[in-house]
Parts: sequence; C-alpha cells; structure tokens
Amino acid sequence: MQTNFSPEQLADPDIKVANEILRACVHCGFCTATCPTYVLRGDELDSPRGRIYQIKEMLEQARPAPATVVKHIDRCLSCLSCMTTCPSGVHYMHLVDLARAHIEKTYRRPMAERLLRSMLALLLPRPFLFRIALVGAMLGRPFARFMPGRLGAMMALAPRRLSGPSTMDRPQVFPVRGARRGRVALMTGCAQKVLNPAINEATVRLLTRHGIEVVIPRGQGCCGALVHHMGRTDEGHAQAAANIETWMREKRRNGLDAIIINASGCGTQVKDYGFMLRGDKAIAEDARTISGITRDITEYMAEIGLNESVRPDAFPVAYHSACSMQHGQKITTLPKQLLSQAGFEVRDIAEGHLCCGSAGTYNIMQSELATRLRDRKIANIEATGAPVIAAGNIGCMTQISGGTERPVVHTVELLDWATGGPLPPALHGHDLGPVAALGVSTMVAG
Ligand code: SF4
Ligand code: SF4
Repeated sequence: MQTNFSPEQLADPDIKVANEILRACVHCGFCTATCPTYVLRGDELDSPRGRIYQIKEMLEQARPAPATVVKHIDRCLSCLSCMTTCPSGVHYMHLVDLARAHIEKTYRRPMAERLLRSMLALLLPRPFLFRIALVGAMLGRPFARFMPGRLGAMMALAPRRLSGPSTMDRPQVFPVRGARRGRVALMTGCAQKVLNPAINEATVRLLTRHGIEVVIPRGQGCCGALVHHMGRTDEGHAQAAANIETWMREKRRNGLDAIIINASGCGTQVKDYGFMLRGDKAIAEDARTISGITRDITEYMAEIGLNESVRPDAFPVAYHSACSMQHGQKITTLPKQLLSQAGFEVRDIAEGHLCCGSAGTYNIMQSELATRLRDRKIANIEATGAPVIAAGNIGCMTQISGGTERPVVHTVELLDWATGGPLPPALHGHDLGPVAALGVSTMVAG
C-alpha cells in the first residue's frame, strides 16, 4: 500500500513502524474472509483491510481520530486471525495498537464510556479490587437481563461461584518431586487467579511432578495487555517494566530457564515485551531477554516431555484454541498433541479460527457482537458431542462457560489430572462417562 507520511512524521519511531506495516499490505483482501467482525457484519469498514486503510488515513492526516474510525477500531477484537491469513506478513497487531494509542490521545469519548474504561483499567489488573467487584456483580447477576447495555453485560459475565484466594499464588518456591530438571517462574496473572485459582495450582503440581522447580516471584503483576489494548500505552509499559525487573532479578540471583504463562492472552503480550519496550534504552535488552524465555505451559511441557498418563479412561474433549494461542503465539497443534498423549480423545471444533468473543474487555464493551460470536462458538462446540471443553486462556473459559452447561477446563488441569493430580473442580458432579467411575478417588492431590 502506498503511504504519504512526511519526513517529519517518519522521524517519529511509532509512525516509522506504522509506515512499514502499512506498506506491506497489498490490499488483496484475503484477510476479510477470516475476520470475525467482517463475517458477522459484511462491512468492509469492519474488515482488516478496511481498518488498515482507515488507520493509514488517520495517521497520515495527523488529526484527532474521527468518531467513525474509533467505532470500527473499537469493533476489532484484536483476535489476530487476519495475521494468520495474511500472505504478506502484515503485522496488524502492532498497527492496531498504535492506532488505539492515537485514539486514546486524541479522541474524547463520552463521559460514561471514559468512566467505564477507567474502572476496568483500575479493577481488572488488581486481584483484591477485582474480587470485590466480582462479589458485587455476582449479587446482581440474577438481574443482569434487566440492566442496561454494558452494565448488564458485566453482570452476566460474573461467575456463579467464587473460590477464595489460593495460598499457592503467594510469592514462594515450590520444590520438585524427585530429581530437579529445571527452574521456572510462573506468572500467576491477575484476573485469572481470582476467577479460577485451580489453574495455577494445577500448573505448579504438573511442573513439580515433572522435576521443575517453580518460583512465584514477589513483585510480578498484570502483564499489561488490558490497558495496552485500550491505548493506555504508558500504563501498559509501566506494568511490563515491573514484571521485567522482577523476573530479571530472579533470573540473575537464582537462575530461570523460562517464564511460564498459562493464560495465552498474557503470553502473547509478554512475548511482545521486546517490541513494546524497544524505545526504552534502560530496559530494552532485558525486555528482549524476557520475551525470549517466555513459554506457554503447553510449549514447555512439550519441550520437557509429558509423563505417562495414569488415567486409562479419559474422556472426549473439544479443544478450543484461543485466538491469542493460535494467532498470537502460533501454537496450534501442541496443546492437542499433549491432550491426545495424555489419553483424551481430542475433537476439533468447526470454524476454530473464529474468536469466541471474549477478547479482553470486548465482551463488555461490544457485548452484542461478543454474544453472537459466543453463541456461534458454542453451537460449533456442542456439535462435537464432547462432554468437556478445554482451553488455554481464562478469558475464553469465562466467555464460553457463560453460554453452555458443559464444563470448561484449562488444558493444564487435564494434563495435571492425567498425570496424577486431582480431578479439575469444574468437572465435579458432571457425567463424563468412564471418568465418573473414578469418583472421588481422582481428587487425591498429585
Ligand atoms: S491479507 Fe494482508 S496484504 Fe491482503 S489485505 Fe489483508 S492485511 Fe493486506
Ligand atoms: S484482529 Fe480480528 S477482528 Fe480485528 S481486523 Fe483482524 S481478524 Fe478482524
């Protein structure tokens, strides 16, 4: 695509990056067919190609973002399906992040929206505040359908029950069982450990059972994705910098083979720290180091090798690949291979490339589109006939479980159970065929 930035504009490193990305786009339109918002709306302005064109115009003109552009960029899920499809290697993720930062700086949203976005940016990365907000939302959940717009959407997303904080999420070191083969830091996340503490617990059990010492370093927090995707670049960078400092300190003092992440949305972000902080000389090299040693838990388990399954009667599982997993990190087959190796019959979901509508805060900010995507995803999942749904991202798990009675579990919980851990809490009380015969005996900690 031809661009017309002035030399002065190109002196800005962000515009230079945007220019390179824009020039890679040949306007072929292949990406439109796999874009969820284009599939639903059929509007070129809600397609990747249409958005790329709008971003080009907005940045070239160096004017405050027009309301129409904001509308179509806000409708983008950042699912990155377009990046998987694009034959020209257009880095849409970096481009739309730059566009969102420009919108945040130059566009004044209506007061109610500004308040909502500020509230989400404050609450979601802080587990204590998020827990309090969730308790309030749970109380309001029965009345969600009577609540207007986004308020109703937020209440509908509240879980039916909430576990207490897990002691395993506190800063500490978990020693290995048997011979030590490695040492990793586990990123415990922010919203995930409130919504489903069983995921980190299963991750620690799985790793230590495989000879990997796990440290939960003091000082790590939210990956920064939430605010970064809202265009709040400085906040995102501050959260990233705090994590980098924490992990590098641990790496230098005690050694770390990897940073393990079990929420693929966070994994995509941390793997991009090297790019995010490229302009900050004080931390750029450390950021690249951290991105280089970051692994999704399934990548790491594939690297070290999974123990033999101790559950001969595992059940069929529909595996939902989060967009951040398949499009963001290009991890497509590994989780399914591990589940198969652990004895599960893995069933593919039709239209697996399409987003479930979770996408960070999208299911709150764009609830109508998000619900249509969720219902479409659930119809495809239920068509597999599998009694259990597995996914590797808490956002997807929350979104999907809001529309189906089938239990949704994290991949790592199944791998933990298959290699000797307890039955995932979400499976208790569900008829899973052969597994039901295992009863409470499967709940023994591994
Ligand atoms: S597929 Fe790639 S090159 Fe083609 S229009 Fe989409 S982003 Fe541009
Ligand atoms: S990130 Fe997803 S929703 Fe946004 S343009 Fe690309 S395919 Fe469409």
